[in-house]
Amino acid sequence: MKHILISGGSIAGLALAHWLPRYGFSVTVVERAPAPRPGGQAVDLRGVAREVAERMGIMARIRAASIDERGLAYVDASGRRRAAMPADLFGGEGAVAEIEILRGDLTDILYDAAQQGVEYLFDDSITSIADADDGVVVSFERAAPRRFDLVVGADGLHSNVRRLAFGSEQRFVHHLGAYTAYFTIPVDGLTLGHWFLLHSAPGGRLAGIRPEKGRSAKAMFSFTATDLVYDRHDAAGQRRILRERFSDMGWHTPYLLSVMEQAPDFFFDTISQVRMDSWSCGRVVLLGDAGYCGSPLSGNGTAMAMVGAYVLAGELAAAGGEHGTAFARYEEAMRPYVTECQKLPPGGVGGFLPGSRMAIRMRNLSVKVMTSRPLRGLMAKAAQKADSITLKPYDEHVHSTL
Ligand SMILES: Cc1cc2nc3c(=O)[nH]c(=O)nc-3n(C[C@H](O)[C@H](O)[C@H](O)COP(=O)(O)OP(=O)(O)OC[C@H]3O[C@@H](n4cnc5c(N)ncnc54)[C@H](O)[C@@H]3O)c2cc1C
Repeated sequence: MKHILISGGSIAGLALAHWLPRYGFSVTVVERAPAPRPGGQAVDLRGVAREVAERMGIMARIRAASIDERGLAYVDASGRRRAAMPADLFGGEGAVAEIEILRGDLTDILYDAAQQGVEYLFDDSITSIADADDGVVVSFERAAPRRFDLVVGADGLHSNVRRLAFGSEQRFVHHLGAYTAYFTIPVDGLTLGHWFLLHSAPGGRLAGIRPEKGRSAKAMFSFTATDLVYDRHDAAGQRRILRERFSDMGWHTPYLLSVMEQAPDFFFDTISQVRMDSWSCGRVVLLGDAGYCGSPLSGNGTAMAMVGAYVLAGELAAAGGEHGTAFARYEEAMRPYVTECQKLPPGGVGGFLPGSRMAIRMRNLSVKVMTSRPLRGLMAKAAQKADSITLKPYDEHVHSTL
């Protein structure tokens, strides 16, 4: 029985940890956080990823947990709606997908689905990966060194495994010139009406509020900047950056800034993509954001992570654990899909974060044009990139239904 170490217990790592034991592999997941990380906004489950969720047997739970979001609307400083994209436009594959689930809720469902045959090492991280006869020896910050047959880096945009096995982040992470922050807020006094509301201001700034179930909502701040110097582990410093940049903005921005201080799940990061010529190196392979982050702008990060986990596990099973063959087939199957999914929406960062009043008006106008009747069919076709892979069946390799 091959023993596979997965670094990162989020969407990609947990989805892979669900599949591998079914094919007879033994799995250890090492996650830096003390438990699966909560937080994040709604993530979209698009196209083929829904099929993967069906095959995992978790679709009913996902549907039950998904949020009732009717669409996305751009509002002005007084809250007046200027342009809107209803969720049912573009066959449920538009900016707001048919199935939107809070990232933390999806993580919980995947964690429940990846229990049997999986060992978890929380609060730990890999410090080195060294080749050994027929395997690798991995050292950890806390646990004792151990031998594994393969290592999967599913540890996100700033992947530790990628740094150890492939080299420094600068070679692979392409900053798109913007930053984003998410956090949970109390919804008291706000009327969202099940719509994801966004307010743009000159200077490439965007504030948003996304509905969720119950008395809370998810706030978002995004802004353009290329040369920001900040510490990735200093949340107080990141909050200060947001206060400085957004303090003069209208709409609900002052409220968002005031409740941001107490938010339990504040998250701040660059908007970047990961681009690599190859996702494997010897016995190490990358999965999800670690290998092919599309950025929140692509809206396909969760889909790519879940589809990638399905394909990687299936190809390892089909190759009887022979990693050279499996990694080559994983890459061959995933590469065209990833290339499609990484394409940014029209206008790229400038479309998402327009810099001037005129550009904001143009963005609103283009949303109106895109959602107008004559263009809807065309846009729906363009939105089908999340379907641009055909899933192979790997059922014949299943050892155990667990
Ligand atoms: C807290 C959080 C909030 C997010 N919010 C959003 C959002 O609102 N919208 C959106 O589009 N995307 C969000 N994302 C990103 C989104 O989850 C991914 O783009 C996508 O689902 C692909 O998932 P992934 O598992 O590849 O990467 P990620 O979800 O980024 O998961 C990477 C995992 O690796 C762990 N990790 C990192 N370093 C190490 C290490 N050294 N050792 C062990 N484990 C490590 C992290 O703690 C994390 O659990 C968020 C990610 C996180 C972690």
